[in-house]
Amino acid sequence: MRPFTYTRATSETDAVRAVASGGPGTRFLAGGTTLYDLMKLDVETPTSLVDVTGLKELRTIDTEGRSELIFGALARMSDVAADARIVSEYPALSESLWRAASQQLRNMATVGGNLLQRTRCAYFRGGEPFPCNKRNPGSGCAAQQGIDRGHALLGGSDACIAVYPGDWAIALVAFDAQVDVLGTTGQRTIALEALHREPGATPEIETILNPGELILRIRVPVTPMGRTSTYHKIRDRESYAFALASAAVALDMEGDTVRSSRIAIGGLATRPWRARTAEQVLTGRKLTPQTAREAGDAALAGARPGHDNAFRIELGARTVADALMIAKQRA
Ligand SMILES: Cc1cc2nc3c(=O)[nH]c(=O)nc-3n(C[C@H](O)[C@H](O)[C@H](O)COP(=O)(O)OP(=O)(O)OC[C@H]3O[C@@H](n4cnc5c(N)ncnc54)[C@H](O)[C@@H]3O)c2cc1C
Ligand code: SF4
Repeated sequence: MRPFTYTRATSETDAVRAVASGGPGTRFLAGGTTLYDLMKLDVETPTSLVDVTGLKELRTIDTEGRSELIFGALARMSDVAADARIVSEYPALSESLWRAASQQLRNMATVGGNLLQRTRCAYFRGGEPFPCNKRNPGSGCAAQQGIDRGHALLGGSDACIAVYPGDWAIALVAFDAQVDVLGTTGQRTIALEALHREPGATPEIETILNPGELILRIRVPVTPMGRTSTYHKIRDRESYAFALASAAVALDMEGDTVRSSRIAIGGLATRPWRARTAEQVLTGRKLTPQTAREAGDAALAGARPGHDNAFRIELGARTVADALMIAKQRA
């Protein structure tokens, strides 16, 4: 057991101040389903936790607005997944949440904490003796010569090929979501697509958040394309598993023809990955199994396989194609 201090924040500014003054070993604590897990594995070793779960104003879910849906960072995954408007008008958002983790976890975990979950790379979670640049910068990357079946095909670097594991961020990227964050110098808004970084030479830096910035809320622009959307997730077993490949798609259709589309892929890249080239492939064309597959191939263009993961290029292309055909049924 490593000792750490624990405090409860009484306001957003109090939380930000407490983390800033606590130094680099201080972390926000939300549902704890990532943080406690990694503390038990000795991968995260905070000296101080600032519990933000008492900040009721960050639990709000507002899906009635005309221009945007608003999800407080501390809203539970299960509550957002079950919101009536989300279920009927934004199925991709709901499905990305209820196809994640287990009901018990979804009841604890928050939608803000979900965005900042860390990779499931076994060498990262396994600790010593495995070299891991993300856990121990400069030590090397065990996955490059090791078992890379679940590792990234897109966005990797010589330093790290860990997959971004979450589902919710993939659907949010497809819907052009934004996040409001609060730091010691004030509030700012970040496009969700810009929040996560590719590893480059510094895989330990996973987002563009400044140290101690608190996610306040996630905002999703209202769009009629929400109804014609799906989150399709392929995994080793039907529930309680991370994605081998996933796709969030939304369509604007005129008859059988695609006016415009949104496509993002998960389980395949080092960060949530918007597949704009795949979207362009479909614009103005009839959506058929053939054109859907062309879009799938475009989404995976540039994929760089290692030794055990090349099968996920075909799997990823098929996942995108199937997602498009599922969404079409909802038009
Ligand atoms: C067995 C298991 C299976 C899972 N399967 C899936 C899956 O299939 N798909 C999926 O998407 N996820 C899955 N997860 C991940 C799970 O969804 C996340 O652990 C959860 O969403 C994290 O939310 P939390 O509130 O518990 O975050 P915490 O663990 O409290 O925090 C996570 C991180 O975010 C930081 N943080 C939390 N809230 C904020 C905030 N508001 N502002 C700034 N920083 C913050 C914390 O400091 C910490 O670093 C699984 C988890 C487990 C344990
Ligand atoms: S892929 Fe990334 S997280 Fe996994 S061992 Fe390599 S550096 Fe570490």
